[in-house]
Amino acid sequence: MKNWFKTYLQLDKDIESNFYRKKVTSKFILLFSFIILSVLLIGNFIYSNTAIFNVTLTLFILMSIILALPGKQRKYASHFVLHFMALGILFVVYFNQGKEYTPIWSFLYTFLVMSLYGHKVGLRISIGFLTILLILLFSFTSTTVTMMEFLRFTMVSCFTLFFAYLAEILISRTFEKLITAKSMLEQLTKTDALTGLFNRRHFDEVLPQQMSAANRSDELLALAIIDIDYFKNYNDTFGHPAGDVALVALANLLKIRMKRGNDAVFRLGGEEFALLYQTKNEESALKLVEDIRGAVESLDQYCEIETQITISAGLLLINANQHMTVESAYELADKLLYQAKNAGRNKVIISASNVDFSLT
Ligand code: GH3
Ligand code: MG
Ligand code: MG
Repeated sequence: MKNWFKTYLQLDKDIESNFYRKKVTSKFILLFSFIILSVLLIGNFIYSNTAIFNVTLTLFILMSIILALPGKQRKYASHFVLHFMALGILFVVYFNQGKEYTPIWSFLYTFLVMSLYGHKVGLRISIGFLTILLILLFSFTSTTVTMMEFLRFTMVSCFTLFFAYLAEILISRTFEKLITAKSMLEQLTKTDALTGLFNRRHFDEVLPQQMSAANRSDELLALAIIDIDYFKNYNDTFGHPAGDVALVALANLLKIRMKRGNDAVFRLGGEEFALLYQTKNEESALKLVEDIRGAVESLDQYCEIETQITISAGLLLINANQHMTVESAYELADKLLYQAKNAGRNKVIISASNVDFSLT
């Protein structure tokens, strides 16, 4: 029951935006109305109150239909139900002539309206509703309601309204802060601090996702592992800060070259980078990395780096038929990179898409 309640109200979901609260409130309104109607239905059945039983039964059936509606329509229906309940409160107060604490339900309405419409619109709707309710109650002050009761109710109404307004401002502000902090944190955990590229952690998350997407697609997935040649010498000669400048320059070049929708660039660590992209064939996959390799050769001409640098790359193509594991994909791409190093560096070695991928 507890779990069902949590799932129905979506309390187990991640908070992604302020809409989440509206969604939970909408669902609460529908659930709450359904429970109230069920109780009324049983009560009227037990006390054989036929006329009201029929009205309640009709509303109960309507409510069951609303609960079965698809998401968006159910959301609009919850707004309607809320205002219908408000109208119901006014009717009950009217028929009861303000007796038996019936106006107290209006406080719940105030909170629900604030949560559903935000503090500005919520305040206006609540003031409108409370004004009608208070006029109604005032009209009974000469008969069923004493002036003292009316004044007391008015005072508590004002305090409730003010508090609901204040609570809404505080909650929505906290929500916004939470959502911003969450997205900043998510961004930070997947970003490399020096270059601003995605980091190794994100690579480990994305590679399996992209590989399983490639299994379902006609396109090839390309994984290139890039490593700067003789970078230790560069650092030893020009110093670590200069090395950092070169890493940033290379990262910026990779960012510029990898701009299509699913392209992703990662700094795996040190002077090692990875590219993940979809490609139609081997030629276009290779051309992209070859173009990058060529551009790196002349990076020192238009960036403030000390001398020419070169890169080596291993390029692995993964197609739908291969079903290789993430580990073997990374290992194979790394192997290709070391073949490029052994072949004299400043080279790209590509795996043919139809080669046998057994690791030897
Ligand atoms: P190879 O061509 O075989 O790749 O030779 P290499 O010298 O590039 O390879 P090695 O792995 O021996 O050296 C990598 C160097 O990268 C070591 C270190 O000085 C440098 N390096 C790693 N991380 C950073 C960094 O964050 N900033 C700077 N400036 N240098 C780094
Ligand atoms: Mg290196
Ligand atoms: Mg290295």
